[in-house]
Amino acid sequence: MGDLDNWVTGSARSYAASGVTAGQRFVSTYNAGPFVAGAALAAFDRIGLCHIPVGSGNTERLVKAIELLRPEAVALTPSYAAYLMEREADLRSSSVERVLVAGEPGGGEPAFRGQLEEGWGARVTEAMGIGDIGPSLWGECEEQDGMHLGARGFVHAELVDPESGAALEMDEGATGELVLTHLEHRAAPLLRFRTRDHVEIRTRPCRCGRTGPRIRCIGRTDDMLIVRGVNVFPSAVREVVSGFVPEVSGHILVRPEAPGVKQEPPLPVSVELARGQSGNDSLTEAIREKLREVLVVQTRVDLVPWGSLGRSEYKSRLVDH
Ligand SMILES: [Zn+2]
Repeated sequence: MGDLDNWVTGSARSYAASGVTAGQRFVSTYNAGPFVAGAALAAFDRIGLCHIPVGSGNTERLVKAIELLRPEAVALTPSYAAYLMEREADLRSSSVERVLVAGEPGGGEPAFRGQLEEGWGARVTEAMGIGDIGPSLWGECEEQDGMHLGARGFVHAELVDPESGAALEMDEGATGELVLTHLEHRAAPLLRFRTRDHVEIRTRPCRCGRTGPRIRCIGRTDDMLIVRGVNVFPSAVREVVSGFVPEVSGHILVRPEAPGVKQEPPLPVSVELARGQSGNDSLTEAIREKLREVLVVQTRVDLVPWGSLGRSEYKSRLVDH
């Protein structure tokens, strides 16, 4: 019970930092297992929100919920927020005042956030949870200058050099991998859990009055690319390309031209054809357009023959660094 209560308290703090208050309607689009979803539900309840779970992957239903139930706030991933913005012309006139983004980095980037706020006509704040540690741990306040640790007192945060694992000072502007430790958890507590999230630290006082260091998640330490301000996950590219099966095999390889995370568009992506397929320009164009529509990224799609990209039975290498 103590563990669960700490989860709920930490999550409630992280969501409430955004400014959502008791009595407001809150649409969520996350899919989570019953245990984690239950804790999130209890956190919304703790704040006093009227929670409207829509789940992911059903845009019609989400748009209908916004139209008919007139929520003050919506929680979704930044990519989905951007997708909806491009698809739905009248979001600005909706009831939504706050958009809480989580699930992947991006919502805290000024240029990308600005686009979302313009498209939604709403304030966009970021939240972050790490399943192994707690459903929602960090939440940004209305000052929009990094996420506060809602689970403060239950979870200890550290910064390490992702290469060496050495601890780094959590000074203003410092970057590194986020490492988290359960302080009170009794069921399967984790000590110095490496999140693989690359974060930047903010320590200057926040005008909201909350204390302690804030973070902005820059991306997964291992695989994320930033193409002109938009975060691109190779796994998301693969997901989109997989929609073209049976013409393609579903295997892809992102081939960045510049070293490092930041890339200029178009991002080269090799897409493997299915066995016996030879491909054509209209397929190339359809994949490119779908990637643009879903991931908001300009790519240069290169169709390659069946069997030319590597296979793995564990995790596929999706980026050719
Ligand atoms: Zn603040």
